[in-house]
Amino acid sequence: KKEKTIDIDGMYEEISKGSRLYLSKAITLLESRAVQDQKAGQELLRKLLPKAGNSIRIGVTGVPGAGKSTFIESFGLQLAEAGHKVSVLAIDPSSTVTGGSILGDKTRMEALAKHPNAFIRPSPSSGTLGGVHKKTRETMLLCEAAGYDIILIETVGVGQSETVVRGMVDFFMLLVLTGAGDELQGMKKGIMELADCMIVHKADGDNLKLAKKTVREYRQLLHFLQPATPGWTTTALPVSSLERTGFETVWETITEFRKQMEASGVWHERRQSQTKDWFHSMIRDRLIDSFFSQQGKKELVVELEKQLLTGEMTVAGAVDSILPME
Ligand code: GDP
Repeated sequence: KKEKTIDIDGMYEEISKGSRLYLSKAITLLESRAVQDQKAGQELLRKLLPKAGNSIRIGVTGVPGAGKSTFIESFGLQLAEAGHKVSVLAIDPSSTVTGGSILGDKTRMEALAKHPNAFIRPSPSSGTLGGVHKKTRETMLLCEAAGYDIILIETVGVGQSETVVRGMVDFFMLLVLTGAGDELQGMKKGIMELADCMIVHKADGDNLKLAKKTVREYRQLLHFLQPATPGWTTTALPVSSLERTGFETVWETITEFRKQMEASGVWHERRQSQTKDWFHSMIRDRLIDSFFSQQGKKELVVELEKQLLTGEMTVAGAVDSILPME
């Protein structure tokens, strides 16, 4: 088989100049199943790494229908129009489980995609960890090296994906709707405690008054919760993406957050501990992959599961028989 050659230096130059085409190609290399592509992708990433890190990484979550895609598209467009370079990475945890997709076609964000300052990359359906594609962090670094100063990561509020996304961003936003009476009851406290900012979305038309009331209720409630970021008070803000209202305040909140957290050192510490966590999770992934790629291991595990269920074996005994203690 003839090996194709990948021009890493050429790709490095193009990405450094901000080429969206080559940025896309580089992400595809990292996501490829072919070892040769992955190696080239990693080499490229290593070269580009000194140029990465200069962005604000923002996670956006909320239940399906909360308006995440609409918010990201119109907020992103506003930032792009103001001269920022905005990159959107969409994560869809449903695709591995059901084969279908919650985000579906609507993440195309056509108006934003057309803007020269924007780059949109939906995540593929495989290789998700807690609903988050394993390559999302690396994709984020490539985007930064290509000059993107704002990274928006969208995730559906399902499963572990919020926690995983919280672990890779600087600022985390939770989109909620009005009708707080029920929602406050049903809302998982845990998710609210991950958020640096809550957005009461669709604050427009007949819904405006109720949205403002909901904002007040959330603000009261937030006093009793653990803050997501040490030294920062999480707040709630009314926003309408249809009318583009509240965007200014959201952006001011984000920039104020950055200013304060950089000054206190929390910004830097969080990024460092995120890198460490990422390292450890990659070690775990690599160990698990290498274990299951050994011949017969998958079958052995299935066989041991049966023996566990019939009571022939203890869990610790089953583990010992596949991974003996040294
Ligand atoms: P997602 O599932 O969270 O990504 O939600 P979408 O962005 O697809 O929005 C769900 C629905 O809410 C769509 O019908 C949108 O048109 C509507 N929507 C989104 N943002 C707003 C808003 O600011 N105001 C109003 N009234 N409707 C909105």
